[in-house]
Amino acid sequence: MEVEDLKFDTIASISTPLGEGGIGVIRISGNESFKIAEKLFRNKRGVPFKIGELPSYSARYGYIFDPLSNENIDETIMLLMRAPHTYTREDIVEFQCHGGMFILNRTLELVLKMGARPADPGEFTKRAFLNGRIDLTQAEAVLSIVQATSERAREVSFSQLSGGLSKKLKEIEDQILESVSWVDAIISFPDEDITPFDYKELLIMIDNAIKSAEKLIGSYDRGKILTQGVKTVIVGRPNVGKSSLLNTLLEEERAIVTPIAGTTRDSLRESVTIGGVLFHLIDTAGITNTENFLDKMGVERSMHEVSDAELILFVIDNSSLLTEEDFSILKIIKDKNFILVLNKIDLPKKLGNSDIEEFLQYKDIPIIPISASEKRGIEDLEKVMQHKILKEDEYGTRQEVYLTQIRHKRYLEKALTSLNTAKQQLIKSTPVDIVGLDLEEALRALYVITGKEYVESVLETIFSNFCVGK
Ligand code: GDP
Repeated sequence: MEVEDLKFDTIASISTPLGEGGIGVIRISGNESFKIAEKLFRNKRGVPFKIGELPSYSARYGYIFDPLSNENIDETIMLLMRAPHTYTREDIVEFQCHGGMFILNRTLELVLKMGARPADPGEFTKRAFLNGRIDLTQAEAVLSIVQATSERAREVSFSQLSGGLSKKLKEIEDQILESVSWVDAIISFPDEDITPFDYKELLIMIDNAIKSAEKLIGSYDRGKILTQGVKTVIVGRPNVGKSSLLNTLLEEERAIVTPIAGTTRDSLRESVTIGGVLFHLIDTAGITNTENFLDKMGVERSMHEVSDAELILFVIDNSSLLTEEDFSILKIIKDKNFILVLNKIDLPKKLGNSDIEEFLQYKDIPIIPISASEKRGIEDLEKVMQHKILKEDEYGTRQEVYLTQIRHKRYLEKALTSLNTAKQQLIKSTPVDIVGLDLEEALRALYVITGKEYVESVLETIFSNFCVGK
């Protein structure tokens, strides 16, 4: 679809959450915005005001006037922004009203009566995309930044919103386009003009695109963790102090989500931010060898939680000897990303350093001594938890661009597959026009990510996750 051909009607919605608030904002976007707003705005002296003549980015104090009942219904600050330098690239008027549900609904109703249509979820952002102000990855970042629950999530989303990912994708696109034009040149020139050098050059270009795509795909796991949080499972045999550790971490840090706890045999989930990273903590029921049916259920659930955990806190009890159960748990988690938490250091110690080293089979696993009940060693544990997630190099120079959405990853993988096929074809001396087709396939996959090519159903899926007014 050609961006220039799009013409839209005028939409409006309440853009702030419904409820009591200092202010509430009604946003109107489209060609008719100024006309509609003019019918409803009275200046501070209570007289009609030609807002259409105001320069862009004007703010005026006045009243919302109901032409039907002939009365002012609220005070307002009206903001006027002219296309194309606006959120949607269309003419926009925003009324800052008092933040009450009734008054906002009443004002919106008037705006709709004067000719606007209620906006769909995410429609303002969708217009920003359709009108070419932002690409699809930036539109998606709007949602991520609204939903960000940690500093790192905000940072990664903001980078995407500012076009960080778009820039990386453009680099890959340019590398592929260069290969395509090389292919075109080879096709257009007679055989004798083409040297093996030309093919070698082409191969290098395709390889560069492959490397860039692989690097970006490689950033996905980290990107997902930073934006969505780290699934962190606390394991250990009964009574080592798992629940105490969970509670201590929650007390020390700000808990974000507090769902109702299940039974003692169920998993407990809470989320906290530590050093700007969101950790979803899950306290499992003890992984035991008992024949008890309920415990078996607990074991199954624990195993399930462990299987897709991004970080595991394996708690053992410093005041008792290691048991069979500790060894069975280690067996299950040994290849996972885990920290050994040596709890109850306030009690007389039963485990020597060599016992623990032997237990861990001398592997390089961080061992953190703590006392959950006396809140000792918790800061050290938190530091190591962060280190396990943000690799060393990221403390200094943080990588700016991450892939954070599965949609992006899927299409980038698709592009990568086509690039690899192109490379293989070239190595096998397949005619270059076939290679060209694979390169175009790769380009198309990239265009789906940025929205250069799109189908309405994809947009619907993306924007239906937005709230109305965004
Ligand atoms: P869980 O079954 O692994 O969740 O263990 P709990 O957190 O329920 O703790 C079991 C018992 O150990 C409780 O009586 C706690 O008070 C106690 N406990 C937990 N952490 C410590 C600690 O660091 N020091 C001491 N002395 N007792 C602890």
